[in-house]
Amino acid sequence: MASNRRSSAEPGHSESVTIIEEVQKEKGVIRRYQQGRFLGKGGFAKCYEFTNLEGKQVLAAKIIPKSSLTKNRARQKLMSEIKIHKSLNHRNIVQFLHFFEDSENVYILLEKCANQTMNELIKRRKRLTELEAQCYLLQILYSIKYLHNNRVIHRDLKLGNLFLSDQMEIKLGDFGLATKLEYDGERKRTICGTPNYIAPEILEGKEAGHSYEVDVWSFGVIAYTLLIGKPPFETNDVKSTYKKIRTNEYSFPEQIQISSAAKNMIKKILVTEPTKRPSLDDLFNDDFFKTGGSIPKLLPVSTLACPPSVS
Ligand code: ADP
Repeated sequence: MASNRRSSAEPGHSESVTIIEEVQKEKGVIRRYQQGRFLGKGGFAKCYEFTNLEGKQVLAAKIIPKSSLTKNRARQKLMSEIKIHKSLNHRNIVQFLHFFEDSENVYILLEKCANQTMNELIKRRKRLTELEAQCYLLQILYSIKYLHNNRVIHRDLKLGNLFLSDQMEIKLGDFGLATKLEYDGERKRTICGTPNYIAPEILEGKEAGHSYEVDVWSFGVIAYTLLIGKPPFETNDVKSTYKKIRTNEYSFPEQIQISSAAKNMIKKILVTEPTKRPSLDDLFNDDFFKTGGSIPKLLPVSTLACPPSVS
């Protein structure tokens, strides 16, 4: 598959329109997309809104320049990301739609998530109410449960990879560091890249390797960050953060009130020994999710800016 990029300015309009054509060797142009608004930038990729000119659906397109894939390893990593992401289908995971390439770029077409990521949410809101945290953390657990059931470990769970749809539903994305185990009980020894909410056993480069428990660790870091407003091991430099992770040095600031159920769940998760961490089923059944009332399935869009009225 190949594509062509055409930019043209309509007469009387100064802004040019970029059309990306998906070309197949035998069939010629098979699809045309109009490139729209810039959505964001990652390590290698730039992300734009794409409109499929036939169906008029609006998608998110991750554009990766081939010039960034000259090293075999970078290309292999991207191919592994595509292979894993393509195989997944769950309402709390960014839906992979399609991918194609031309001489310049690789294009990955994804479900568009209109309300940015939980990173922007926390920047704006500082921290969330417990009800909101319960609602989001349950959805995050559903996405991790689905991955682990399919022998996939995400290995880079963090606020910036948790997207929010127009309906405010959690969509886990970015499978750049993910791995698929070939058999139950397989242990992974290496990881390319630096996960943000890294588990201590990865830092120690343990002989025994790492597995699903690294995602549970990151889930704990996410829970803490949503409720407290900053990550538990945050410092001004990576080295000190890693030291704090290795020595399990974190605390709950006194000035922030959180329930003992929330604290207990986080304490159970953030333990150095991976086998001592709760399983996903333990977490679904944790007291933190046993509230008197019911936990909403979705929150209103207004909560992007202010807490929900009843909390
Ligand atoms: P990389 O893999 O290079 O880190 P990301 O997957 O993090 O790239 O994407 C980079 C940015 O593009 C994100 O921070 C976000 O702003 C935007 N983005 C990525 N995927 C989507 C999506 N499905 N919907 C909307 N915006 C997206």
